[in-house]
Amino acid sequence: MTEELRIKELEKELSKSHRENEYLKEQLDKGDAFELHQYKTLVHSSPSMITLLKGEDLIIEVANDAVLNFWNKSRDIIGKPLVEAHPDIKEQGLENLLLEVYEKGEARRGYEMPVYISRESGRELLYFNFIYQPQRDQNGKIYGVAVIAHEVSSQAVLHKELKKSEDLYRSISDFMPHKISISDKNGNSYYYNQSWLDYTGRSLDELIEKEPGKMLHHQDWQNIQEIAEKSLKSGRPFEVECRIKDKNKEYKWHLCQIAPLKDQEGNVEYWISSAIEIQKMKEEEKRKEDFLKLVSHELKTPVTSIKGYIQLLQSMLGEETEENKVVKPYLNRIEGQIERLIRLISEMLDLSRIEQNEMELKLEKFLLNDLVEEIIEDFSYTNKNLRVELNHYCECNVSADKDRIGQVIVNLITNAIKYSGDDKRIEVRVFHPDRNHVGVGVKDFGIGISDKDKKLVFNRFFRVPSQNEETYSGFGIGLYLSKQIIHRHHGEIFVNSEPGKGSEFIFTLPLEQN
Ligand code: ADP
Repeated sequence: MTEELRIKELEKELSKSHRENEYLKEQLDKGDAFELHQYKTLVHSSPSMITLLKGEDLIIEVANDAVLNFWNKSRDIIGKPLVEAHPDIKEQGLENLLLEVYEKGEARRGYEMPVYISRESGRELLYFNFIYQPQRDQNGKIYGVAVIAHEVSSQAVLHKELKKSEDLYRSISDFMPHKISISDKNGNSYYYNQSWLDYTGRSLDELIEKEPGKMLHHQDWQNIQEIAEKSLKSGRPFEVECRIKDKNKEYKWHLCQIAPLKDQEGNVEYWISSAIEIQKMKEEEKRKEDFLKLVSHELKTPVTSIKGYIQLLQSMLGEETEENKVVKPYLNRIEGQIERLIRLISEMLDLSRIEQNEMELKLEKFLLNDLVEEIIEDFSYTNKNLRVELNHYCECNVSADKDRIGQVIVNLITNAIKYSGDDKRIEVRVFHPDRNHVGVGVKDFGIGISDKDKKLVFNRFFRVPSQNEETYSGFGIGLYLSKQIIHRHHGEIFVNSEPGKGSEFIFTLPLEQN
């Protein structure tokens, strides 16, 4: 290749690479312009209000469509100080805030910030979330402040309304004598009302920090934990009596009612607890119990000897003389009344034994069906117009205190007869409520019990109020004792009933495991 040719080739090469360079440069310029265009569109079409303010005079350099619309200004405002577009900023301290960001170079944020805006129609109060962000050049020198703001008036007004309503309920809760507290779904408390603070002499934070077990009497704590654990799992409300320590370190009895608050799907979100002091009532009850215990003890001996004398007199009236025919029914009636008195006295004594945790169970293994049958035979013998239908759906051994379980069955049958009116028809069944338990049901066709009272009949001294005291004598202890006896055997007792149609009382016991 000649020298001339080589130069021509090089020139060609050079011109080619020049053309390529030119092309690349053109493309790059085009790219920058495109990118810039994209940014501009992004800023101007943004629903957030975006402004770029330059220098300490806060000259508007960029203002997107959203902010121009909001100010009700045209693009002519660009290049002018912010106060011209938005005269209210000065008196509301926003100008100072912007200048502070400009001087210190630290961003500032605001949430639901109230801002007054002057309109032709008058002044309007609006709320904004915003950020004031310092802007720096390539050398890190601050040249302005960017403002990105978002109007959130409807959300802020809603929050204010919510806050107002929350404050109202908080005041109501603080005003109440009840001790109200709220805990999360796991039972961790985060709110206690004023009554709690006054009673314990502690602040809200101290109460939240404090373990509930340290506020309660140790004898009640175990029981509460068991009940609470069950309810946390089942999501069902519960009620419990317990002693809570006051600011003088004295324990006072309270009735605590705890109920779940559930979300729309039925999941527990919160637990609300209300505790009311029942110390005076407890003391009163204690006095009543002590008195009953004393009276029962004192009555037991004379009443038993009266019964002995009556039986002696009955046996002495051997011959069927005219005189004896008159006296005998009276003696029988006296014996009946004395029997009632003896039962009442023994119920009273059982009551105090239970209260003082002195009821001991003498466990033995026996066939429950036999016990039920024996008791029904006794009843049928003394109540001639009683008709009992007994169904054994299973034959079951239990390990239990035979006398105490007998006492429960007697009590249920006595009630079934007592609250049956003239229809003395009773159905008794022994059955399997599930694989591990045996159940005994005593059904009558008498006056029945309302839903409201069903929950209460097992409470101590409770009697359905509307029932005629004369017609149905009693003290409201029998079912309470039955419940205690069955619970001590790890069983359950409950009632199914319909007013006017009758009731079925059922108790269950764990089966004796072979
Ligand atoms: P009482 O001695 O008053 O019968 P209980 O504790 O045995 O005491 O019963 C409590 C209350 O439950 C009774 O006063 C009565 O109102 C109601 N009750 C109990 N059994 C029945 C029943 N079989 N039918 C209707 N009401 C009943």
